[in-house]
This record gives sequence, structure tokens and C-alpha cells, in this order.
Amino acid sequence: MSSAVEKSSRSEASFEGVDDVAMAAPKPAPRRNDSAALAKEIAEKLTYAIGKDPATARRHDWLEATTLAVRDRIVDHWLASNARNNASGAKRVCYLSMEFLIGRLLRDAINNLGLSEAIRDALSAYDVEIDLIELLEPDAALGNGGLGRLAACFMESMASTGVPGFGYGIRYVHGFFRQEVVDGQQVELPETWLEHGNPWEFERRERAFEIGFGGKVTMIEEAGKPPRQVWRPAERILAVAYDTPIVGWRGARVNTLRLWSARALDPILLDAFNSGDHIGALLEANRAQSITQVLYPADSHLAGQELRLRQEFFFSSASLQDIIRHHLKRHGDLTTLPDKVAIQLNDTHPAVSVAEMMRLLIDVHAMGWDQAWDITKKVFSYTNHTLLPEALETWPVNLFERLLPRQMQIIYAINAQIIREATQSGLDGGKIAAISLIDEGSGRRVRMGQLAFVGSHAINGVSALHTELMKKTVFHNLHELYPERIQNKTNGVTPRRWIMECNPDLTALVTEAIGPGFKDDITKIKGLDALATDAGFRDKFMAVKLRNKQRLAKTIEERLAISVDPHAMFDVQVKRIHEYKRQFLNIIEAVALYDQIRSHPEIAWQPRVKIFAGKAAPSYANAKQIIHLANDVARVINADPSVQNLLKVVFLPNYNVSLAEQIMPAADLSEQISTAGLEASGTGNMKFAMNGALTIGTLDGANVEMLEHIGEDNIFIFGLTAEQVAARRANGQGGREIIENSPILKGALDSISHGVFSEPGRYSNLIDNLYGNDWWMIAADFEAYWQTQRRLDTVWQDPTAWGTKAVHNTARMAWFSSDRSIREYAKDIWSAPTGA
Ligand SMILES: *Cc1c(COP(=O)(O)O)cnc(C)c1O
Repeated sequence: MSSAVEKSSRSEASFEGVDDVAMAAPKPAPRRNDSAALAKEIAEKLTYAIGKDPATARRHDWLEATTLAVRDRIVDHWLASNARNNASGAKRVCYLSMEFLIGRLLRDAINNLGLSEAIRDALSAYDVEIDLIELLEPDAALGNGGLGRLAACFMESMASTGVPGFGYGIRYVHGFFRQEVVDGQQVELPETWLEHGNPWEFERRERAFEIGFGGKVTMIEEAGKPPRQVWRPAERILAVAYDTPIVGWRGARVNTLRLWSARALDPILLDAFNSGDHIGALLEANRAQSITQVLYPADSHLAGQELRLRQEFFFSSASLQDIIRHHLKRHGDLTTLPDKVAIQLNDTHPAVSVAEMMRLLIDVHAMGWDQAWDITKKVFSYTNHTLLPEALETWPVNLFERLLPRQMQIIYAINAQIIREATQSGLDGGKIAAISLIDEGSGRRVRMGQLAFVGSHAINGVSALHTELMKKTVFHNLHELYPERIQNKTNGVTPRRWIMECNPDLTALVTEAIGPGFKDDITKIKGLDALATDAGFRDKFMAVKLRNKQRLAKTIEERLAISVDPHAMFDVQVKRIHEYKRQFLNIIEAVALYDQIRSHPEIAWQPRVKIFAGKAAPSYANAKQIIHLANDVARVINADPSVQNLLKVVFLPNYNVSLAEQIMPAADLSEQISTAGLEASGTGNMKFAMNGALTIGTLDGANVEMLEHIGEDNIFIFGLTAEQVAARRANGQGGREIIENSPILKGALDSISHGVFSEPGRYSNLIDNLYGNDWWMIAADFEAYWQTQRRLDTVWQDPTAWGTKAVHNTARMAWFSSDRSIREYAKDIWSAPTGA
């Protein structure tokens, strides 16, 4: 493998990557950003980069031409940022993540460069509407949900807060599947975001590294040198870099997202081809490329295939080789690595990096074990994203050994060292077994969470509650051994995308009310708080909400042919479909409401539209049943004239970042109703509240801190606490007694079982679970949920009360900006600069 390092440094002589641009190169004249200059450049791109005549260009050509014109401006900033990084030698933050759910990039770039108006005007000269063409950009869905979207928000916030950040991930050819709903059921279709090319990415052919798999480890002894282990992989492939610029606010800094694509060393085996084996000649190339073909559609449960482990190692090794290459080139000596680089592991997917870093330092760069281990721990930090046992990554030892024999040896050696430290500090045998990197039960398995923990100097949870639970549960014993390592870093979302870009009307209103300062410093949005009781402002605020709801209503009409009243309460739950997130609880409430509206027409029911969206992992049967049920319930309720103007249920297919950008500004009520103790943070909760939705939620994840910031009068908290959930589970209290004592709940479950929405029995599995152990506490929390929803009806009846709370929500959410999260990481974990 040392040949990989030699190879890449050789290629440097002939190719210069974007981070190596010679400072003395002549600089092009700065570009003009007025609409006339932009119009001219867009036409030039259309003509000379795309080869189309403005008179015959299609919308897609205009999108591409506009993207290229904007991209030129980004590249100017990008080269300047990279030159500054290199000149200052400031510490770089490398964010390793299996997922980056970045969505569309054009609007983000235009907004952050301050070009919104100029581009609009430039295009209108050709009768082209930016709002229409930007919808043609594919939604880059290189992630499943919250974890991937967090990585995307963090990339934007690093660029906006002045952190020299580098994202490292995988360039999946097929991102997260496209969801269609056919006969009420989820159908998964391949996603093809690269089909029309990708103008945002720059292929860096010179930035390629060899990645090995399998083979043998042999001890080499050379005269006068200590013996060393050499890994001779049986299989070697190439990782090739593709760089996407990430533009920060006001373009002050442009960082890089580097995604790796797999390629065979030899594109074709000519011997085989010439001897007539035309298919076999390509087999190896196909096998290599398959590593980066598809994103695993798994969320909060384990994807246990060999290909997945290959993907994890592939991007970890490529990223570390790149980081080491860069460091050696700039600083010459790996002992200073921790002063110049921080590597954040986003969940355990890149945890094999700990072993791979040790291998690179020891086997390839001839460092001693103790020094290598010291450097490794100083460089790495790890973010935990889940406590769900079914989601904690482990790999069978024999698979690991076969695929990564040298890394397995190193893991054993790390384990021996940790166990020594534990024994010395007096931990007993049971506790030592619990911290071991190898799970000796249920077939021997490597525990990736433990590996990430011991190889990191800082381990963080993503909300205050989650961090406390981490200390008590998954990492209880490791926390006892290393009590200074765990800390909290509550998640955040970027207010550029999640307020300014998705809600331009709100942005204009806030600007009019308190000035534009909040765009540079989101904490200034607090200035709205005083206006919550100002009737004039509140009316404008709710008028913006209504316009956003009208737009969403139009989308619902177009996509589903369901007409909904924009004056009804839009009650929204959009997120991955998972039992712990409890969409089922919400659907049961819809059914109960349907029953109650019909049997009690005398009550002043408030009109509601219940909106759902989300994808289920293809192998997750219960989650798919929940989607089916939501669609069955929607079909029956929407067709029933007796509840027409009071209740509608909508399931919008194919939830993704772009759909989220349309839904968040249009929500009145945000459903954040996970079983307490199971949602690590949530970030959807933050996007809704920033856009003035009220939250109904449990004391879970970041909801707890939202309650502190927003105030208990402005958020609707219900249900069991994490402690109460744990106690009920421990007692084995099921749901039967509760259901039998709750006529409303019982009635709703009976309607579902008896076939009001489908043939009887279709959902008996879901319902039996409630009568049985009620693992997700749906029966246990139903009554509190129902009552809280009725309290919300009362508030909705009073537009002044509702509007006041809505304004308070927007005004008090600034702390949940990912800029705040990033500044905390930079200061407490990375020791990296922020500013400028
Ligand atoms: C924010 C976001 C998520 C995370 O939502 P949660 O409600 O926190 O689970 C998932 N998917 C998309 C597309 C998002 O934008």
C-alpha cells in the first residue's frame, strides 16, 4: 500500500489540485455581478459551454447556463479560500460522513453570494423564470435523513462561520431511492441524480488513492530496522476525488466537499478480452465500481452487508490517505498532525478510520505504536447519533478479518491496550467485557461504537438528553473509564437554507420589521419577540404563513388531486417512517378524530389537514405498513362528505430536502412525537419552529431544549418521559388495559381492525403490538396526546393567541442555528479557528 502514497505524490508533479494553486498565477479580473453582466455571461455559457442558441434553448439548458455563470463566481472565492488556508496554515476540520443530504445547490449558492435579484433580472431578459428552472435541478440525496442533512447543514455553517472545513464522503451514483405510492403502498425506484451530468462537481483525476481489500499480512525484517507488518491486499481499487464547492454566507469562504468514486485499476482485462471472454474482461471493473453505486437505504437500523463495510473502509481510507498526503506536503512531518487537522466521525460509519489511521502511521510511515496511538486520539472525535440497539454497528469478526486483515490485527492490539487500562483502573470483569471492542456473545463481532470511542479524544451526543442517556446506557462503562471524553453538542440547522431560502416572504417581513442584521447574525431575530403582541405585525406574519400554505395546497392538488383548505390548520409530520417516530400514533389520532367528528357534530371541531411524508427502509415491514395505513385512512376520510371541511389526510410521496423546503414554511403544527429517549435530537423540529409552526412533542431529543428556549406557553409537550418509558418497559406493562379503558382509542383501533379503511386484518400486526408489549408506548401516550391536540384546537380558535405563539417560535429559535453548533465544536472539540 505504500505504493499508493508514492503514486499520488508522483502525479502531483504534473497535476495541481485546486488546493495547490500557485499563488503567483495571474488573477483574472474580478467579475461584475450586475444583472447586465450576468445576462451576458449566461448567454455566453449557453452558447459556448452548452452549444445552444437562446432562441431554441430548453429550460434545462438555461438552468445549466445559469449554474455555470454562478459557478464561475464561486470558483473565484473558492481559490481564494484555499489560498488563504494554505497561507495561514490554519487547522483544517475534516468531516467524515457516509451521507451528505445536500439537496439542490443553485438557490443556496445564489442566496449566499447575494445574487438573487441580479439573477432574476438577468434571466427575465430572456423571458426565463429562475423559480421554474431551479426546480429542474436534481435534489442530491446522498443520505437517508437527519444524519445526512446534519452533515450538509454543518458544511454550510463551517463555510459561513469561517472554519476551514473539508467534507469527505461517497459519490453514490444512485442516491436515496425515489418513492412512489401505488395502491397506497411504497414503491422504491432508483434515483438518478447524475443522469444529466453534475455541473457542481470537479473531477480530480490526479487525486486518486489505492484502496485494498483482503489478502495477507506478512512480517518484514530488514537488516538494521525493526520488523514491520506489511499488508498485501488481494484486491486493489482506486478512489477518485470529486470536489463540490460549498459556499458560505456572503461568499466569504468556500469550502470543499470531496466525494470518492470507485474505479478499477485496470478498466478492462485485455488478455481476457482478446481470448474471447468479453464479459469476464469487464468483471473486475464492474466489481470495483459497484462500491460507490448505491446508497444503503437504512435509517436507524443496521445494514449488515459486506458491500456496506467495503463502502465504509473505502471512503475512510481514501480520506485519511488524502489528509496525510496534504499534511506531509505542507508540514513535512506527521508528529504535528493533531495541530493541523481535526477529523470528526459522523456516527460509526467511518469508525474503521481509527484502525486505518494506525495502520498508515505505523506500517506506511514507520511510526511507533505509542506515538501513533497518541496522535490518533488527538486527531479524531466522534458523534454518536443513536441509542437504538438495532442501529449500533457491529461486524462479524470473520468478515472483518477476511476483508481487512491488518486492520483487524490493529483492533485486537487496541483492545488489549484498553483492557489493560481498564484492569489497571480497577474495572471488574463484567465491565471489561462491556467495553471490549469485541462482542464475544452472539458470534464474535467488532463493535464500531466502542472503536470510535476509544480512538477519539471527544465523543459527543447531539442533544442534552441524548448525551446524558449515552453516559447511562451505551457508553456507561467507557464513560466510567474515560469520564472526561463525553460532551454534548446539540444539533442545529442552517438559517440560510431553512429560513432565508425556503421562506423568502418571511425573510422579507423580518427584514422590514427589524432590519437585515439577522441575516449576518441570526441571534438578532430575537428582535421579533417584542412584535409578537403587535397586531399589525402578527397579521402580516400569519399572512405570510397563509401564502405558504396556499402554495403547498397547490402542490397537494397537483400531485394528489386532493383539495385542501389553506385556512385549515396544517398539522404536519414529515420525517423517515419509523416505529419510534410514531407516525402510527398520529394516524390513530386522525382515525379517532374522524370517529368523534361524526359522532359529535355538536362540538366546535377545528378544521385540520393532517399531512404526512417520509420514506420507509425497503426491508422495514412495519414502517411500510404504516405508510399503507396512512394512505388507506386518507382515501376513506377524504372521500367522506360528512367530515369534508373538518378533516383531510394527505400523504405526500417522495419526501426529500426540496419537499421539506416547501413544507416547513407552510406548517402550523409540527409533530415531534417520538417515544421519549429514542430521538437523539431531531432537526426537523427546529426547521418547523424557525418558520413559525407550533410544536406538539414529547420530552425527547432537542425538544427538551426547544422547550427551554421557546417557553412552555409556546410549545405543547405531552406524554411519558424517557425515565417513565424505561420504567414501563422494565415492568413489561403492555397496552391492553389502557386500550380497554380508553373508549376513544379502542374505537379507533377497532375501526382500523374491522376494515373501515381496508379489508379486515390488514393491520392486525401493528394493532396486536399495542395490545401486547406496546413497545413504542403508543397506547400509553395516546390519552395525553389526544388531550393536547384538543388544547391545540382551542388555541387555534383564537387567531391572536396562535399568532402570538407562532411569532415567539420564530423569534426564539436562533440558538438552534448550526452556526452555534459549529462554533461549539470548533472551540471545545476541534480547537479550530472561526471568524471571517
Ligand atoms: C431535516 C430533515 C430530516 C430530519 O428530520 P427529523 O424530523 O429530525 O427526523 C430528514 N429528511 C429531510 C429531507 C430533512 O430535510
